[in-house]
Amino acid sequence: TNINSQKIIEQTEKYGAKNYHPLPIVVSRAEGVWIEDPEGNKYMDMLSAYSAVNQGHRHPKIIQALKDQADRVTLTSRAFHNDQLGPWYEKICHLTNKDMALPMNTGAEAVETAFKAARRWGYDVKGIPNNQAEIIGCIGNFHGRTMTAVSLSSEEEYKRGFGPMLPGIKLVPYGDLEALKQAITPNTAAFLVEPIQGEAGIVIPPKGYIKAAYDLCREHNVLFIADEIQAGLARTGKMFACEWEGIEPDMYVLGKALGGGVFPISCVAANKDILGVFNPGSHGSTFGGNPMACAVSIAALDVLIDENLAQKSLELGEYFINKLKQISNPVIKEVRGRGLFIGVELNEEARMYCEQLKAEGLLCKETHDTVIRFAPPLVITKEELDWAIERISKVLGT
Ligand code: PLP
Repeated sequence: TNINSQKIIEQTEKYGAKNYHPLPIVVSRAEGVWIEDPEGNKYMDMLSAYSAVNQGHRHPKIIQALKDQADRVTLTSRAFHNDQLGPWYEKICHLTNKDMALPMNTGAEAVETAFKAARRWGYDVKGIPNNQAEIIGCIGNFHGRTMTAVSLSSEEEYKRGFGPMLPGIKLVPYGDLEALKQAITPNTAAFLVEPIQGEAGIVIPPKGYIKAAYDLCREHNVLFIADEIQAGLARTGKMFACEWEGIEPDMYVLGKALGGGVFPISCVAANKDILGVFNPGSHGSTFGGNPMACAVSIAALDVLIDENLAQKSLELGEYFINKLKQISNPVIKEVRGRGLFIGVELNEEARMYCEQLKAEGLLCKETHDTVIRFAPPLVITKEELDWAIERISKVLGT
């Protein structure tokens, strides 16, 4: 083909809304941890589409599930049953140890679902007076781009020009238990939290915080909702990031790797006393629970489990972090992470370093200006990781 990167970038910039600022690379093929541009240059993917391709690009088992399902039926809507949804429900409920799940398509929609479930639970079960329910979130959170998600955000740029914001939201500093305690009132329906804040720059809360926050919610009959869209599904070295603190949240919010980077699917999972608040007509999505998404998701979850990707992430993550910590350069402020979910915080803007890493064949993306996020597909081998470390050391070393 004679398509070239420059032409595609120009076309993208000419016709596309400017809501992203991508690195100047065009991806036309990918496999495992490797990405290729139209000119045939190869790069290692250190972003994994924000943890949506934990299973690696185009995992053969997931692609096979996609093809097989495409040959049968792709969409029924929820007006009818489809033969993939039941098996998927059972699988996700076993994995999360919950009674029920509700499938949507994108992460933000799953957050919407969690938010609606929490409010309705607040009225129907907890007995909060009508329209008085409060949801507590954390400063620095990222829950997506819908109006609910941006209403939850503490980032002015995510909200500017989009008001009025949704009422009934309170924000507390992430990691501050006392602030959470102060914020809870009899009208609090839920506390929505990321067990590790991904977009904020791989921010890990103080040890014991998630467990203590969970206990506090228990004590006050407040739902503890974990947004594990980015941190969950093996990324941090455990199937769910909440396992690091030994808790099972009242509700999981999942997305991204739930579809193996192949087909969008997200969901919430919780017990009957919570998700039972939905009745026919109260919530839905034309594509939610479609057979393509379910078939792909079943395969994507099988790959996570069968290939022990949580354990792999744990072991390789520890190895990677230790190597990163050995790089001595005053520009590095902190190296932190859990499993292959790693942030290197710099004392200056990170974008230039990402561009240098790109020149070395490594694709990563800065987050919040000063943090380089390293989150390769979890199928990465130790040899591939060593290849990456060599290049990172070259760019980040003095
Ligand atoms: N929640 C978290 C923790 C996320 O990291 C993201 C995406 O980055 C979202 C929600 C939103 O997901 P989506 O972009 O699929 O709407």
